[in-house]
Amino acid sequence: MTNSVWQRAERRTRRLPQNPNLEQLKNQAKDVLKAHKSGDESCCDVLRFLAQFADKSRQQILAARITLQEAQHALALSYDWGDWAMMVETVLMCEGKSSDNPDGISEFIRKMLMEAIKTGASHVYFEPYQLNYRVRYKIDGELYTVATPPVELGPRLAEQIKRNASMDLDENKQPAEAVYELPLSRTKSIHIKVETFPIASGEKINLSFRDPAAVTLGFEKLGLEPPQIKALRSALGNRRGMVLVTGPRANGKTVTIYTAINELNTPALEIASVEAPVEIHLEGVNQYSVQRDDIPGYEEGIRISLLQEPDVLMISELKTSVSAALAVEASNAGQFVIATLQSDSARDALTRLRALAIPADDLARAVKLIVNQHLLRRLCTHCRIEVDDAKPELLAAGYPESALEPGFKLFAPAGCDKCHSGYKGRIGVFELLEVTDNLSRLIAGDGDAADIEAAQLATGNLRQSALLHLRSGITSLEEVRRLMD
Ligand SMILES: [Zn+2]
Repeated sequence: MTNSVWQRAERRTRRLPQNPNLEQLKNQAKDVLKAHKSGDESCCDVLRFLAQFADKSRQQILAARITLQEAQHALALSYDWGDWAMMVETVLMCEGKSSDNPDGISEFIRKMLMEAIKTGASHVYFEPYQLNYRVRYKIDGELYTVATPPVELGPRLAEQIKRNASMDLDENKQPAEAVYELPLSRTKSIHIKVETFPIASGEKINLSFRDPAAVTLGFEKLGLEPPQIKALRSALGNRRGMVLVTGPRANGKTVTIYTAINELNTPALEIASVEAPVEIHLEGVNQYSVQRDDIPGYEEGIRISLLQEPDVLMISELKTSVSAALAVEASNAGQFVIATLQSDSARDALTRLRALAIPADDLARAVKLIVNQHLLRRLCTHCRIEVDDAKPELLAAGYPESALEPGFKLFAPAGCDKCHSGYKGRIGVFELLEVTDNLSRLIAGDGDAADIEAAQLATGNLRQSALLHLRSGITSLEEVRRLMD
C-alpha cells in the first residue's frame, strides 16, 4: 500500500500513467480504515506515517482508535504529499479540474518535481497549448505525458515556477533562464535549471535537474573505458592546448566537463569557468555566469576570465566564431582550455570549428584531444532477456565476425515495474580523437575527412565502444542501431 499510485499504474501499463485518480485514493483511505477495524496488520505500514504511531508496535497501532480523516492523512503522507487537502488539490489539477487554492499551484509544482526526481526523469516540461495544458517528463531521453491540468492555470503555473527560481515575473516575451536549488532533505539538494520560451499560446517552461553529486562519481561511472580514461587524464595532466568535449545536445557533455573540472580542482590550481549559466556550483572554481542568449556577455566573460591567467579555463560551449577564436588563440598562447562543442562525431568537431572560421593551422596547434560522447539507454537488469543466437543480428549491424568471440551474450529489453519499457538510466559511449603530430599535420594541411577518419580508427570509435557495452549486457542492439543511424 505504500507504493505510489503512479508506480502501480505504471506497473499496469509499463509506462508512466496519465493521472492519479481521486476516487481510487478515497477508496484506498477507506480500505486502510477497514483493514484497521478488522485487525489486518497491512494497514500499519500506512498508519505509521502518523506522528503518534511512528514508534508504536503493530499491536499498539491496531489497538488505537482511528478516524477516516486520520487514515486519509496517513495515506497522503505515505504518498509524499504534505496532507490530504494538498493531495486532493494536486490530484484534482492532474485530473484537469481547476483549483482556487493559491497553495494548490505551488504544491502541484512541488509534487510534479518530486515525482520526476523519484522516477529518474532528467527534465520536466510545462507546456501551454490552445486547448490543453501538458506536463511531460523526459526519462532516459523519452517523453511521457504525466498530467494535463486545466489550460487556464497555465499563466499561474508559469508565474509560480518563475517565482521559485527568482526570475523576472514581468518578462514573458523573451526566453530566459535561471538555476535554483531545491532542498530534498536536510543534507541533500538538487539544482534545477529553468528555461522559459514564449510560444503562441503562452510560456513553455523546461526544467532540468542537475545533481551536484553526479559530477563527483568519476569517469568510470560515465561509461569511459580504461584506455580512454588514461588518455583523458593524460591530456588533463599535461594542461596544454585545448580539450574538447563534443556530442549532440542533451547527451551528457555538461556532466563530463564538470567531472573533468572536479578531477582538476585542487588548491594548487587556479581554475576559471565561463558558463551560460552556471549549472552546478563548484567550490574553489571561479565561475563566471552569463545568460544563454547574451552572446556579447559570454564573449566578454571569456576575455575577463583570461585576464586572471588561470591554469585551467573551462568554457561551457563554443558557439560563435568569436568565442571559438578566443579559445583557440588563448590555448595557442599557452592557456589550457576545456570546452564543449555541439557535434555528432569527433571528426565533425574539427569541421565545425573550421566552419566557425578558425584557420586550419591554428586549429591543428590548439586541439590536443576530442572526447565525443553519446548516451545509450541502459537495459533494466531486472527484466532484460538474453537473445538466442545473436550472431546474425550482430553481423547485420555491421560487427565483424572477429569481434564476436564465442560466448558473446546479447540482451534485449522486456519491461517490468522497475523500469521504463525495459530501460533504466543511461550510459555514455565515447570516442576519443587524440591529435597526434601526424594528425595535426593532416588537419593543418586541410586533410580530407577519410584521412582523419583513418587516423581516428586507430584510437577507437563509437561503434567499437558500443560493442563493449553490448558485450557486458549494459545496452541493447536496438539502442546501438539508433546511435549509428
Ligand atoms: Zn525492467
